[in-house]
Amino acid sequence: PAAPATNFLRQIIEADLAQGRHAQRRWAGTPGPASVQAQGEPDVARIRTRFPPEPNGYLHIGHAKSICVNFGLARDYGGICHLRFDDTNPEKEEQEYVDAIAEAVQWLGFDWHAQGKDHLYFASDYFTYMFEFAEALVLAGHAYVDEQSAEQTRANRGTLTEPGVDSPWRDRPAEESLARLRDMRDGKFPDGSMVLRAKIDMASPNMNLRDPIMYRVRHATHHRTGNDWCIYPLYSWAHPVEDALEGITHSICTLEFEDQRPYYDWILARLAELGKLAQPLPHQYEFARLNLSYIVTSKRKLLQLVQEGHVDGWDDPRMPTLFGLRRRGYTPASIRLFCDRTGVSKSDSRIDYSLLEQAVRDDLDPIAPRTVAVLDPLKLVITNYPEGQTEACTAPRNPHDPSAGVREFPFSRELWIEQDDFREAPPKKYFRLFPGNSVRLKYGYVVTCTGFVKDEAGKVVEVHAEYLPDTKSGTPGADSVKVKGNITWISAAHAVPAEIRLYDRLFADPHPDAGEKNFLDALNPNSIQVVQGLLEPGTVADAGATWQFERLGYFTADRALSTAERPVLNRVTTLRDSWAG
Ligand code: ATP
Ligand code: MG
Ligand code: MG
Repeated sequence: PAAPATNFLRQIIEADLAQGRHAQRRWAGTPGPASVQAQGEPDVARIRTRFPPEPNGYLHIGHAKSICVNFGLARDYGGICHLRFDDTNPEKEEQEYVDAIAEAVQWLGFDWHAQGKDHLYFASDYFTYMFEFAEALVLAGHAYVDEQSAEQTRANRGTLTEPGVDSPWRDRPAEESLARLRDMRDGKFPDGSMVLRAKIDMASPNMNLRDPIMYRVRHATHHRTGNDWCIYPLYSWAHPVEDALEGITHSICTLEFEDQRPYYDWILARLAELGKLAQPLPHQYEFARLNLSYIVTSKRKLLQLVQEGHVDGWDDPRMPTLFGLRRRGYTPASIRLFCDRTGVSKSDSRIDYSLLEQAVRDDLDPIAPRTVAVLDPLKLVITNYPEGQTEACTAPRNPHDPSAGVREFPFSRELWIEQDDFREAPPKKYFRLFPGNSVRLKYGYVVTCTGFVKDEAGKVVEVHAEYLPDTKSGTPGADSVKVKGNITWISAAHAVPAEIRLYDRLFADPHPDAGEKNFLDALNPNSIQVVQGLLEPGTVADAGATWQFERLGYFTADRALSTAERPVLNRVTTLRDSWAG
């Protein structure tokens, strides 16, 4: 494979490695929690990155980008990438999501086991450390317990043009704040009654530095720590602490966190001064999030699609979740390819959905076995072929891969072809079947259309043709008759019935949630069409198996619904980008 394209993150890491910036990692004071110490070798010059999902929903294609970036950098530079659950917000988090996220990361092809260790972490494992650190910050005069009401706090925060107003509690004695903080922890106060705030600068032009809230009271049961805690840390300061305790070197996040970086650095600097963290400290770097046209990735909107029944669950094959993409037939390699191709940049842009479709075509084309399906069947009778007779035709399993061998299927008097491959009155440049015209039945014979039968409503229900016995594909006479049309077919008596789900984009508008639009108005009414089709005999629809249906696109056996008795197939994508023109 080609060397990965460079980007600003790679350049930073290469420079850091060249300078040995991470070679001298040393604990200045409090060693990290046992779960982190167990990872060992704190002094080795390795980069460490992390993917830090909050277990409050299913991963989507945007998360795949972050996974590929973080795990990809660790892989490429001999480092380690942690999978860390940022579970600091008990109300919204559940074990179900933890399991689903871990499964999705593994499915994408990444592993948090590295150098013989299991690098799976939970922010909730650090709650005791966070509290100890908060106490130290209070005692050092860097944090205080604020008893203003939520409304007062908001009103005193100021605006982008107006400085904020100091809380009356800001300069209370450290011991008083400490006692209050411990009482908060001990459950003596109701939700919302008081908060711990960092004492930074209420006049800072950066709103994030106007005494940000560090702890709030939440009498809620946490999916891992149960009722041990009734105060929970805010992400904005918990995150740098998590990074530092785990020895993360490059903390990579998306651009919206750029304004948070001064606070990230402030927290780490104060705790390092107090001897709580090892040097060198982590650095935060921001890159542009993945924005993809024709989809939404907001967790709230994805949930609404599921709850209101616009889709059939989180893993509906139209959903941009990794489980939806998996069920649709996207391969892990195709998603990684897409993430690599779209690169890492420092400015926001929108990536066209067609790049995702092209990535799955490019991944599947060399590996997907070929087969024939007929989605909209029309009977073709070869009137000069004996009734009851069959003969074998062969075709490559994959024309790009001779080692895959050939497949065999029968030719007979009655075949299924696509409705689209016959016209009573052909338009210009139509080279398929019409009265008097000859076409090749792919991998079989050249046939000439001799007539057709209509039902009472005037619909063509049967087409008649005669075959030219010397023209069978693969025999010396195959090219003796030249034809312009080449159509696919299946022997009627041998065809395997299957339900085929023709999926298309979930949204018809490239920017479903731009501006004031209601994203539901942009739903594509034709995002699913279910047809009863026919498959080439021998196409075994094991769940998750994927083929290229010749001329039609890539299809996969639905992993939830497909059985040998009743195959259900999903269209992954068409062979070409039909949205382009
Ligand atoms: P929310 O803010 O709704 O909780 P989130 O999308 O931030 O959701 P997290 O679980 O916090 O979800 O995300 C985990 C990681 O994935 C974060 O580091 C986040 O920056 C990254 N991430 C999420 N969406 C994208 C995206 N579209 N492109 C790149 N990275 C993303
Ligand atoms: Mg988040
Ligand atoms: Mg989000």
